Amino acid sequence: MTQPSSGSAESAVSSARQLSSLLGRMQIVDLSHTLEEDMPIYPTHSRYYHTLWDSFATGSRALLYQLVINEHCGTHIDATAHFMPEDHPEHLYMADTPLARCAGRALTLDLSYFQDTDLVTTEIIRQWEQAHYAIEPGDIVNFRFGWDRYWQPRSVSRAYSKSWPGLSGEAAEYLVSKQIKAVGCDVLAIDSSYAENSPAHYALLGNGINIIENLTRLDEIVGESYMIAFPLKIKQGSGSPIRAVAFK
Ligand SMILES: [Zn+2]
Repeated sequence: MTQPSSGSAESAVSSARQLSSLLGRMQIVDLSHTLEEDMPIYPTHSRYYHTLWDSFATGSRALLYQLVINEHCGTHIDATAHFMPEDHPEHLYMADTPLARCAGRALTLDLSYFQDTDLVTTEIIRQWEQAHYAIEPGDIVNFRFGWDRYWQPRSVSRAYSKSWPGLSGEAAEYLVSKQIKAVGCDVLAIDSSYAENSPAHYALLGNGINIIENLTRLDEIVGESYMIAFPLKIKQGSGSPIRAVAFK
């Protein structure tokens, strides 16, 4: 019979207390948009519905709604299965994606001066690294284009889903060489609306790097933060809505 050593139990408690105390002193930044029926959606994707299932008014003891939601609706993460077929070595569905890939140090680049026709190049990333932080293996790298300022109900404005900037294929390859775990952005897709054949999606997902799209409030975490973007555990999922948060 084996008993756990008191030493390891004590250090486990100690780590939990340390983490609790550390996180308690940090600010939580909510990086997710609110899910609502009239929100921007990718032009070819199905829409989001929040439909009353039962309520007090209909004699129910409880209020509940049914969600009809595309996996790539609102703030969400792409599984590699989104673009990689089952025989690709990096293919993983959402439920099988290790959670460690969805949390880590985040470096957020402020490119809010970008126009919709602009593309992130390797040169832009290298210059940012020299001025701020070097990208390290296991980092999450976010690009702030400031596009969340256009996030409005479709009935008010469709500017958000009309056009947007993005990451070039060669810059995506550079991030692959840096062995990062995920890339985030505050636009509808990491590839610009003008990109052909989704070069950044293929470079990133093809190398086991998940993509996080439709983030907001990245202006509050420019530079270094700690980010968590856990997906729902969807069997054979190609992606999932997330509640993305950063601690700073
Ligand atoms: Zn997606």
